[in-house]
Amino acid sequence: VKETGRNNYKFFNKAMNEEISTKLLLENDLRKALLKNELEVYYQPQLDLQTNRIVAVEALLRWHHPDKGFMSPAEFIPIAEETGLIVPIGEWVLKEACKQTKLWRDQGHDLSISVNLSNQQLISNTIVEVIKEITSQTELNPQYLTLEITESMAITNLTDTLNKLKELQDFGVNISLDDFGTGYSSLSYLSTLPIDSVKIDKSFINDITNKTKKEIVKSVSSIAHSRGLTVVAEGVEEEEQLNIVRSLGIGMIQGYYLSKPIPSEEMQSRFLLSSFV
Ligand code: C2E
Ligand code: CA
Ligand code: CA
Ligand code: CA
Repeated sequence: VKETGRNNYKFFNKAMNEEISTKLLLENDLRKALLKNELEVYYQPQLDLQTNRIVAVEALLRWHHPDKGFMSPAEFIPIAEETGLIVPIGEWVLKEACKQTKLWRDQGHDLSISVNLSNQQLISNTIVEVIKEITSQTELNPQYLTLEITESMAITNLTDTLNKLKELQDFGVNISLDDFGTGYSSLSYLSTLPIDSVKIDKSFINDITNKTKKEIVKSVSSIAHSRGLTVVAEGVEEEEQLNIVRSLGIGMIQGYYLSKPIPSEEMQSRFLLSSFV
Protein backbone atom coordinates (compact mmCIF):
# COMPACT_ATOMS: atom_id res chain seq x y z
CA VAL A 1 0.00 0.00 0.00
CA LYS A 2 2.84 2.28 0.96
CA GLU A 3 4.62 1.51 -2.30
CA THR A 4 1.55 2.30 -4.40
CA GLY A 5 1.08 5.48 -2.46
CA ARG A 6 4.58 6.65 -3.24
CA ASN A 7 4.24 5.73 -6.89
CA ASN A 8 0.98 7.55 -7.09
CA TYR A 9 2.59 10.56 -5.56
CA LYS A 10 5.42 10.46 -8.10
CA PHE A 11 3.01 9.93 -10.94
CA PHE A 12 0.87 12.79 -9.76
CA ASN A 13 3.94 15.00 -9.59
CA LYS A 14 5.01 14.11 -13.11
CA ALA A 15 1.53 14.80 -14.45
CA MET A 16 1.51 18.12 -12.67
CA ASN A 17 4.91 19.05 -14.03
CA GLU A 18 3.81 18.19 -17.52
CA GLU A 19 0.71 20.26 -17.11
CA ILE A 20 2.74 23.20 -15.87
CA SER A 21 5.27 23.04 -18.69
CA THR A 22 2.55 22.69 -21.34
CA LYS A 23 1.03 25.81 -19.89
CA LEU A 24 4.35 27.66 -19.87
CA LEU A 25 4.96 26.74 -23.50
CA LEU A 26 1.50 27.88 -24.44
CA GLU A 27 1.95 31.11 -22.51
CA ASN A 28 5.21 31.72 -24.34
CA ASP A 29 3.52 31.10 -27.70
CA LEU A 30 0.60 33.32 -26.79
CA ARG A 31 2.98 36.12 -25.89
CA LYS A 32 4.22 36.09 -29.51
CA ALA A 33 0.88 35.40 -31.14
CA LEU A 34 -0.10 39.06 -31.41
CA LEU A 35 3.19 40.09 -33.03
CA LYS A 36 3.16 37.12 -35.38
CA ASN A 37 -0.34 37.86 -36.59
CA GLU A 38 -1.71 34.51 -35.49
CA LEU A 39 -4.84 35.94 -33.91
CA GLU A 40 -8.02 36.58 -35.84
CA VAL A 41 -11.42 37.94 -34.95
CA TYR A 42 -14.39 35.88 -36.10
CA TYR A 43 -17.92 37.22 -36.17
CA GLN A 44 -21.23 35.59 -35.32
CA PRO A 45 -24.46 37.26 -36.44
CA GLN A 46 -27.36 38.17 -34.17
CA LEU A 47 -30.85 38.27 -35.67
CA ASP A 48 -33.56 40.68 -34.59
CA LEU A 49 -36.70 38.51 -34.53
CA GLN A 50 -39.02 41.47 -35.01
CA THR A 51 -37.44 42.87 -38.16
CA ASN A 52 -35.79 39.61 -39.30
CA ARG A 53 -32.53 41.47 -39.89
CA ILE A 54 -28.97 40.94 -38.75
CA VAL A 55 -28.54 43.90 -36.44
CA ALA A 56 -25.39 42.93 -34.57
CA VAL A 57 -22.42 40.59 -34.55
CA GLU A 58 -20.35 39.19 -31.69
CA ALA A 59 -16.57 39.28 -32.02
CA LEU A 60 -14.99 35.95 -31.03
CA LEU A 61 -11.25 35.45 -30.86
CA ARG A 62 -9.47 32.71 -32.81
CA TRP A 63 -5.83 31.59 -32.60
CA HIS A 64 -4.08 29.85 -35.47
CA HIS A 65 -1.28 28.20 -33.50
CA PRO A 66 1.79 27.44 -35.67
CA ASP A 67 1.97 23.76 -34.56
CA LYS A 68 -1.28 22.98 -32.81
CA GLY A 69 -3.40 24.54 -35.55
CA PHE A 70 -6.67 26.16 -34.74
CA MET A 71 -7.07 26.65 -30.98
CA SER A 72 -10.34 27.20 -29.18
CA PRO A 73 -10.61 30.24 -26.90
CA ALA A 74 -11.72 27.85 -24.17
CA GLU A 75 -8.13 26.51 -24.24
CA PHE A 76 -6.18 29.75 -24.27
CA ILE A 77 -8.40 32.49 -22.79
CA PRO A 78 -7.93 31.08 -19.26
CA ILE A 79 -4.12 31.23 -19.72
CA ALA A 80 -4.38 34.71 -21.15
CA GLU A 81 -6.45 35.68 -18.10
CA GLU A 82 -4.00 34.22 -15.59
CA THR A 83 -0.97 35.85 -17.16
CA GLY A 84 -2.57 39.22 -17.83
CA LEU A 85 -1.93 38.75 -21.56
CA ILE A 86 -5.67 39.10 -22.01
CA VAL A 87 -5.31 42.86 -21.51
CA PRO A 88 -3.26 43.63 -24.67
CA ILE A 89 -5.03 40.83 -26.55
CA GLY A 90 -8.44 42.13 -25.49
CA GLU A 91 -7.51 45.64 -26.61
CA TRP A 92 -6.43 44.26 -29.96
CA VAL A 93 -9.78 42.45 -30.35
CA LEU A 94 -11.64 45.65 -29.48
CA LYS A 95 -9.67 47.67 -32.00
CA GLU A 96 -10.08 45.09 -34.78
CA ALA A 97 -13.79 44.66 -34.12
CA CYS A 98 -14.49 48.41 -33.98
CA LYS A 99 -12.45 49.02 -37.14
CA GLN A 100 -14.34 46.27 -39.01
CA THR A 101 -17.72 47.49 -37.80
CA LYS A 102 -16.95 51.06 -38.83
CA LEU A 103 -16.07 49.70 -42.30
CA TRP A 104 -19.32 47.73 -42.54
CA ARG A 105 -21.30 50.74 -41.36
CA ASP A 106 -19.60 52.93 -43.97
CA GLN A 107 -20.73 50.40 -46.58
CA GLY A 108 -24.31 50.98 -45.48
CA HIS A 109 -24.89 48.08 -43.10
CA ASP A 110 -26.63 49.14 -39.93
CA LEU A 111 -24.66 46.87 -37.59
CA SER A 112 -23.55 46.92 -33.98
CA ILE A 113 -20.66 44.99 -32.50
CA SER A 114 -20.49 43.02 -29.26
CA VAL A 115 -17.09 42.41 -27.70
CA ASN A 116 -16.33 40.18 -24.70
CA LEU A 117 -14.59 41.96 -21.86
CA SER A 118 -12.40 39.91 -19.53
CA ASN A 119 -12.24 40.38 -15.78
CA GLN A 120 -8.65 41.65 -16.04
CA GLN A 121 -9.75 44.32 -18.47
CA LEU A 122 -12.69 45.39 -16.33
CA ILE A 123 -10.63 45.72 -13.15
CA SER A 124 -7.92 47.70 -14.92
CA ASN A 125 -7.86 51.38 -13.96
CA THR A 126 -7.60 52.46 -17.56
CA ILE A 127 -10.50 50.53 -19.08
CA VAL A 128 -12.78 53.56 -19.55
CA GLU A 129 -9.97 55.56 -21.16
CA VAL A 130 -9.05 52.60 -23.38
CA ILE A 131 -12.61 52.28 -24.67
CA LYS A 132 -12.83 56.02 -25.33
CA GLU A 133 -9.49 55.95 -27.11
CA ILE A 134 -10.37 52.97 -29.32
CA THR A 135 -13.79 54.25 -30.37
CA SER A 136 -12.26 57.62 -31.15
CA GLN A 137 -9.33 56.14 -33.11
CA THR A 138 -11.58 53.86 -35.15
CA GLU A 139 -14.26 56.55 -35.44
CA LEU A 140 -16.96 54.12 -34.34
CA ASN A 141 -19.81 55.83 -32.52
CA PRO A 142 -19.88 54.18 -29.05
CA GLN A 143 -23.63 53.61 -29.42
CA TYR A 144 -22.76 50.80 -31.84
CA LEU A 145 -20.49 49.07 -29.34
CA THR A 146 -21.69 46.58 -26.73
CA LEU A 147 -19.38 45.20 -24.06
CA GLU A 148 -20.28 41.74 -22.77
CA ILE A 149 -19.52 41.05 -19.13
CA THR A 150 -20.43 38.10 -16.92
CA GLU A 151 -21.92 37.90 -13.45
CA SER A 152 -18.82 36.38 -11.89
CA MET A 153 -16.80 39.39 -13.06
CA ALA A 154 -19.25 41.85 -11.62
CA ILE A 155 -19.03 40.37 -8.15
CA THR A 156 -15.28 40.88 -7.67
CA ASN A 157 -15.52 44.54 -6.74
CA LEU A 158 -19.09 45.65 -7.09
CA THR A 159 -18.74 49.37 -6.35
CA ASP A 160 -15.81 49.75 -8.69
CA THR A 161 -17.59 47.74 -11.39
CA LEU A 162 -20.76 49.83 -11.05
CA ASN A 163 -18.83 53.08 -11.40
CA LYS A 164 -16.95 51.96 -14.48
CA LEU A 165 -20.02 50.53 -16.19
CA LYS A 166 -21.96 53.73 -15.51
CA GLU A 167 -19.14 55.81 -16.90
CA LEU A 168 -19.05 53.66 -20.03
CA GLN A 169 -22.83 53.92 -20.43
CA ASP A 170 -22.65 57.70 -20.02
CA PHE A 171 -20.12 57.69 -22.82
CA GLY A 172 -22.67 55.84 -24.98
CA VAL A 173 -21.44 52.24 -24.87
CA ASN A 174 -23.97 49.43 -24.22
CA ILE A 175 -23.41 46.80 -21.57
CA SER A 176 -24.65 43.23 -21.87
CA LEU A 177 -24.78 40.55 -19.19
CA ASP A 178 -23.45 37.37 -20.83
CA ASP A 179 -24.01 33.70 -19.88
CA PHE A 180 -27.03 34.74 -17.87
CA GLY A 181 -28.37 32.10 -15.49
CA THR A 182 -25.07 30.34 -14.86
CA GLY A 183 -24.11 32.42 -11.82
CA TYR A 184 -25.56 32.73 -8.32
CA SER A 185 -27.40 35.99 -7.81
CA SER A 186 -28.60 36.30 -11.37
CA LEU A 187 -31.99 37.86 -10.87
CA SER A 188 -30.82 40.57 -8.50
CA TYR A 189 -28.15 41.65 -10.99
CA LEU A 190 -30.85 42.50 -13.49
CA SER A 191 -31.74 45.47 -11.31
CA THR A 192 -28.43 46.35 -9.62
CA LEU A 193 -26.11 46.37 -12.61
CA PRO A 194 -26.22 49.14 -15.20
CA ILE A 195 -26.91 46.97 -18.23
CA ASP A 196 -28.80 47.33 -21.50
CA SER A 197 -29.23 43.71 -22.47
CA VAL A 198 -28.96 40.19 -21.17
CA LYS A 199 -27.85 37.06 -22.99
CA ILE A 200 -29.60 33.95 -21.75
CA ASP A 201 -26.98 31.22 -21.53
CA LYS A 202 -26.98 28.56 -24.20
CA SER A 203 -27.45 25.79 -21.62
CA PHE A 204 -31.03 27.04 -21.12
CA ILE A 205 -31.71 27.33 -24.84
CA ASN A 206 -30.25 23.88 -25.42
CA ASP A 207 -32.91 22.36 -23.11
CA ILE A 208 -35.70 24.77 -23.90
CA THR A 209 -38.00 21.99 -25.10
CA ASN A 210 -37.95 20.92 -21.44
CA LYS A 211 -40.99 22.47 -19.73
CA THR A 212 -39.15 23.61 -16.58
CA LYS A 213 -36.33 25.25 -18.57
CA LYS A 214 -38.88 26.97 -20.75
CA GLU A 215 -40.65 28.36 -17.67
CA ILE A 216 -37.33 29.66 -16.31
CA VAL A 217 -36.47 31.39 -19.57
CA LYS A 218 -39.98 32.79 -19.73
CA SER A 219 -39.79 34.40 -16.28
CA VAL A 220 -36.25 35.66 -16.79
CA SER A 221 -37.17 37.33 -20.04
CA SER A 222 -40.31 38.87 -18.59
CA ILE A 223 -38.32 40.35 -15.70
CA ALA A 224 -35.68 41.59 -18.13
CA HIS A 225 -38.31 43.13 -20.38
CA SER A 226 -40.00 44.83 -17.43
CA ARG A 227 -36.64 46.47 -16.72
CA GLY A 228 -36.42 47.65 -20.30
CA LEU A 229 -33.60 45.29 -21.22
CA THR A 230 -33.11 43.64 -24.59
CA VAL A 231 -33.06 39.85 -24.32
CA VAL A 232 -30.77 37.76 -26.51
CA ALA A 233 -31.04 33.97 -26.65
CA GLU A 234 -27.64 32.45 -27.36
CA GLY A 235 -26.94 28.97 -28.64
CA VAL A 236 -30.06 28.64 -30.80
CA GLU A 237 -29.33 25.65 -33.03
CA GLU A 238 -32.70 24.20 -34.05
CA GLU A 239 -35.82 25.64 -35.61
CA GLU A 240 -37.83 24.16 -32.75
CA GLN A 241 -35.75 26.16 -30.24
CA LEU A 242 -36.19 29.28 -32.33
CA ASN A 243 -39.96 28.85 -32.35
CA ILE A 244 -40.14 28.52 -28.57
CA VAL A 245 -37.79 31.49 -28.09
CA ARG A 246 -39.96 33.52 -30.43
CA SER A 247 -43.14 32.51 -28.61
CA LEU A 248 -41.64 33.85 -25.36
CA GLY A 249 -41.24 37.29 -26.91
CA ILE A 250 -37.43 37.20 -26.89
CA GLY A 251 -36.09 39.89 -29.20
CA MET A 252 -32.83 38.53 -30.58
CA ILE A 253 -31.13 35.23 -31.30
CA GLN A 254 -27.56 34.10 -31.87
CA GLY A 255 -26.43 30.56 -32.62
CA TYR A 256 -25.56 27.87 -35.11
CA TYR A 257 -29.12 28.01 -36.47
CA LEU A 258 -27.99 31.22 -38.19
CA SER A 259 -24.27 30.61 -38.41
CA LYS A 260 -21.16 29.62 -36.54
CA PRO A 261 -18.65 32.40 -35.88
CA ILE A 262 -17.02 33.15 -39.26
CA PRO A 263 -14.22 35.33 -40.68
CA SER A 264 -15.12 38.88 -41.70
CA GLU A 265 -15.00 38.07 -45.44
CA GLU A 266 -17.49 35.24 -44.99
CA MET A 267 -19.70 37.45 -42.83
CA GLN A 268 -19.66 39.92 -45.69
CA SER A 269 -20.43 37.42 -48.46
CA ARG A 270 -23.08 35.45 -46.58
CA PHE A 271 -24.91 38.12 -44.64
CA LEU A 272 -24.03 41.58 -45.82
CA LEU A 273 -24.26 41.55 -49.61
CA SER A 274 -28.02 41.98 -49.61
CA SER A 275 -30.43 42.41 -46.76
CA PHE A 276 -31.01 39.13 -44.97
CA VAL A 277 -34.64 37.96 -44.95
P1 C2E B 1 -19.16 33.31 -25.05
O1 C2E B 1 -18.86 34.75 -24.92
O2 C2E B 1 -20.30 32.78 -24.27
O3 C2E B 1 -19.35 33.06 -26.61
C1 C2E B 1 -20.29 32.19 -27.17
C2 C2E B 1 -19.67 30.85 -27.47
O4 C2E B 1 -20.70 29.95 -27.88
C3 C2E B 1 -18.68 30.90 -28.63
O5 C2E B 1 -17.67 29.94 -28.37
C4 C2E B 1 -19.55 30.46 -29.79
O6 C2E B 1 -18.80 29.91 -30.86
C5 C2E B 1 -20.41 29.43 -29.14
N1 C2E B 1 -21.69 29.26 -29.84
C6 C2E B 1 -22.35 30.15 -30.59
N2 C2E B 1 -23.51 29.64 -31.04
C7 C2E B 1 -23.57 28.38 -30.58
C8 C2E B 1 -24.54 27.32 -30.72
O7 C2E B 1 -25.57 27.44 -31.37
N3 C2E B 1 -24.26 26.14 -30.08
C9 C2E B 1 -23.12 25.97 -29.34
N4 C2E B 1 -22.93 24.79 -28.76
N5 C2E B 1 -22.19 26.94 -29.20
C10 C2E B 1 -22.42 28.12 -29.81
P2 C2E B 1 -16.13 30.30 -28.60
O8 C2E B 1 -15.99 31.18 -29.81
O9 C2E B 1 -15.39 29.00 -28.57
O10 C2E B 1 -15.76 31.15 -27.35
C11 C2E B 1 -15.76 30.59 -26.06
C12 C2E B 1 -15.63 31.65 -25.00
O11 C2E B 1 -14.34 32.25 -25.05
C13 C2E B 1 -16.61 32.80 -25.15
O12 C2E B 1 -17.87 32.42 -24.66
C14 C2E B 1 -15.92 33.87 -24.33
O13 C2E B 1 -16.19 33.67 -22.98
C15 C2E B 1 -14.45 33.57 -24.61
N6 C2E B 1 -13.96 34.51 -25.64
C16 C2E B 1 -14.00 34.41 -26.98
N7 C2E B 1 -13.44 35.50 -27.56
C17 C2E B 1 -13.06 36.32 -26.56
C18 C2E B 1 -12.44 37.61 -26.50
O14 C2E B 1 -12.13 38.27 -27.51
N8 C2E B 1 -12.19 38.12 -25.26
C19 C2E B 1 -12.54 37.45 -24.12
N9 C2E B 1 -12.28 38.02 -22.93
N10 C2E B 1 -13.14 36.25 -24.13
C20 C2E B 1 -13.40 35.70 -25.33
CA1 CA C 1 -20.07 36.54 -25.19
CA1 CA D 1 -22.27 33.56 -23.68
CA1 CA E 1 -18.48 33.40 -21.55
